Amino acid sequence: MTELSSPVSELKGIGKETAGHLEALGIKSISDLLWTFPHRHEDFRLKDLTQTPHNERVTVECKVEREPTVLFLGRNKSRLQVTVLAGRHLVKVVFFNQNYLKQKLVPGSTITVTGKWDRGRQVINGTSVNFGPKTDQVDFEPVYSLKGTIPQKRFRKYMRQALDEFGANLQDAIPMHLQTDYKLVSVLEGLEGIHFPKDAGHAKQARRRFAYEELLNFQLRIQALRKIRKESEQGNVVQFDLAKVREFIESLPYELTGAQKRVVNEICKDLKEPHRMNRLLQGDVGSGKTVVAAICLYAAVTGGFQGALMAPTEILAEQHAENLIEWFEPFGVRVALLSGSTKTKERRLLLEALGNGDIDILIGTHALIQPDVVFKRLGFVITDEQHRFGVEQRRILRDKGENPDVLFMTATPIPRTLAITAFGEMDVSMIDEMPAGRKEIETHWMKKEQLGSVLSKLELELAAGRQAYAICPLIEESDKLDVQNAVEIYEQLALHFNNRYNVGLMHGRLPANEKDAVMRAFSDGEIQVLVSTTVVEVGVNVPNATFMVVYDAERFGLAQLHQLRGRVGRGEYQSYCVLIADPKSDEGKERMQSMTETNDGFRLAEKDLELRGPGDFFGRKQSGLPDFKVADLVHDYRTLDTARKDATAMIETEAFWHDEEYKGLREMLEASGVLQGDRFD
Ligand code: ADP
Ligand code: MG
Repeated sequence: MTELSSPVSELKGIGKETAGHLEALGIKSISDLLWTFPHRHEDFRLKDLTQTPHNERVTVECKVEREPTVLFLGRNKSRLQVTVLAGRHLVKVVFFNQNYLKQKLVPGSTITVTGKWDRGRQVINGTSVNFGPKTDQVDFEPVYSLKGTIPQKRFRKYMRQALDEFGANLQDAIPMHLQTDYKLVSVLEGLEGIHFPKDAGHAKQARRRFAYEELLNFQLRIQALRKIRKESEQGNVVQFDLAKVREFIESLPYELTGAQKRVVNEICKDLKEPHRMNRLLQGDVGSGKTVVAAICLYAAVTGGFQGALMAPTEILAEQHAENLIEWFEPFGVRVALLSGSTKTKERRLLLEALGNGDIDILIGTHALIQPDVVFKRLGFVITDEQHRFGVEQRRILRDKGENPDVLFMTATPIPRTLAITAFGEMDVSMIDEMPAGRKEIETHWMKKEQLGSVLSKLELELAAGRQAYAICPLIEESDKLDVQNAVEIYEQLALHFNNRYNVGLMHGRLPANEKDAVMRAFSDGEIQVLVSTTVVEVGVNVPNATFMVVYDAERFGLAQLHQLRGRVGRGEYQSYCVLIADPKSDEGKERMQSMTETNDGFRLAEKDLELRGPGDFFGRKQSGLPDFKVADLVHDYRTLDTARKDATAMIETEAFWHDEEYKGLREMLEASGVLQGDRFD
């Protein structure tokens, strides 16, 4: 039996106990073992200490200069120190709890030491030592996450044996012609290079192969899903009334931007087609997505369908409702708002009307996805700020119609890399143009001590009739502290502006009706300064607000700061955003710097991705991103692009579905469940 699916206990030396340890690590079969990749490689290449930064790991060849000294520190604890000559440097090497090394460290002899370099103290904190020059030692040694169950060395022995005995049975999933085209190493060579790299180049080639394989697999799943969906999912054919839609567009208070016109066309074309729309609409803050949503909802209504628009907060839902009611008034479109605070009786009447088809467009928060919300003929669903909703919530709303067309809107500019991975199976429309006449928001980064002058500048704006936001950070650990913090700032500012201007307070803990009242007062200009937590982050639109001060701005991620900043600069006036921040980390400083340098959400998003990595970008839980073993979305984006093109092309060919060459990839697809209709979203 040399099957890769054989249990690991087929290997010499793996008894019941070891098999148990391995199973706890998720390793049952030989192939599980082979596909357990090291999380890093220990680098044993010789380094020059003068070139090595503080705290980095080094391996050096050196000569023992003096007798080692051992200090006993209590039970089984000891500290051994030895002075060595490394190149022209006299440095110390320290080992903990290895006093038995004393005899072996003979003055005058040459040793090779690996450890962490403490540059300030000129000490290597040794982790391993080889007695003699670095000759027979390998350059790289993999380090696996074994959670302390099995020693690394023994694990490598099993790995060696598995590769030697079962390697010949490995099937290469990547077709030969692609391996040749991209100069990829074979699966066997790849595993050899991952587990037993001869040198850096060897490890790198191996990594390259598996990164491509992972990304190709991932893209194949997405593209297969997309193809199946397009072919099998019959959506509604919305025969909208073009003349009416045109008339509606004419009635708007402004001319649409070129980008808005383009995306309206893309969406309406999808509405008319028989397959179900699954589209992402991206557009930076303030690019005018709401009106696009309204036009397309109207199109659906003229085609005889109902539409739904789901927003993540009540304020935003209300604002959308207000806008749409005003725009649709002359067109006889019946718009209703459903939120958590809709009164019981009102709610009952509303649901009745919805079921009878007496409501054309329902706007709301996640109140829309409650089970008793039943539409008569839901044909088109839009979710605003889609990243705020979980996967499940989006699915429930979609299932309320019979395969309704679905549009996801997002103002979080999603870097291209992530868009084609997380949302790869969607079509993407992009509003990449701002309405004319917008002025760039001026952003400044200032220290806490400068708050006084910031407030003076703010007051100048108020004197000119404008309004301002003061944003306090959400304190993740505690809602209560969060509110307290906001209340404090509110009190300070209320005192500061005393009888001259009205200061309002808004935070997540206020009852919905109070939130609404505060927001309305701000929007009507009765409140001039709104102190708020991030609840105003998404969507809120008060064009007269031109000044924003963000307290403790270093607590926010770039994407979020950009969202917040998008609350100003929405009208004809010059706007300002002041970040009060004292970041301790370089990363934090870089974030503040980036904010002052650009207003371009996409550039900031790329930067955010670079600084924080893809998982953090969406928040880990709902990222929808698979866990890759070696591929890395930030650095392998070119490979990702290649893999996407290859997958898209491959799936359209007959050969892919029949030829032997593609068997491995087909099997992977089958195992993933995609072909059986399982889906990611
Ligand atoms: P977002 O894309 O962030 O949701 P909104 O839809 O809230 O942006 O639009 C931002 C502001 O721009 C609103 O005040 C809206 O009325 C205005 N707006 C939208 N489209 C245009 C346009 N074509 N010309 C001028 N102003 C526009
Ligand atoms: Mg919006």
